[in-house]
Amino acid sequence: MAINSRGFPCQYARPLRQTLATIRQRLEHPPGPMPHDLRNQLQAILAGDRPIVDVAYGGAQGICQEPYARSAGYRILLCAKAFLPEAESGIVRLPAVLFHEMVHIARGWELDAEAFESAWFSKAEGATPPDRNDWTIFEEDKYEGWWVRVDPHTRRVTDYADRLVVTFPKPAPAHDQSGRG
Ligand SMILES: [Zn+2]
Repeated sequence: MAINSRGFPCQYARPLRQTLATIRQRLEHPPGPMPHDLRNQLQAILAGDRPIVDVAYGGAQGICQEPYARSAGYRILLCAKAFLPEAESGIVRLPAVLFHEMVHIARGWELDAEAFESAWFSKAEGATPPDRNDWTIFEEDKYEGWWVRVDPHTRRVTDYADRLVVTFPKPAPAHDQSGRG
């Protein structure tokens, strides 16, 4: 395997391999626009060119109590949650989650990672639209990513060539916002 993967229980090795194969196929036949440099970098990560990316298993404790995954530098930590069916939908979020973290490794900010996750992966593959917390991050980043930008009014995400990447849905209202618009 091109990516170094470490510490995964054997029942997770197969879904991880299948997910990497899915991501590789999608990069070969892009379902939508993606800046050329970003696509090159994602393909280089999968091919094992520089940088070598470590994908490690984080289990369900400690840093993995809440999130599905984390990334820093050239290291992705996949948590148990990414491999387990969601309580209500039965959806396993691994493909969308791993792709999201790969976009971060390729320099992507939160907006880039959320945009290509939503544009390239289906709900059944674990993609989820950005929530209010994500929109707060977008705002802090002045509605820009490294690769794309978003219009906060239309929620349209476009790349440097003004190609439409995805249009985000309105974020669901948070439960603790009763009485506010
Ligand atoms: Zn992210």
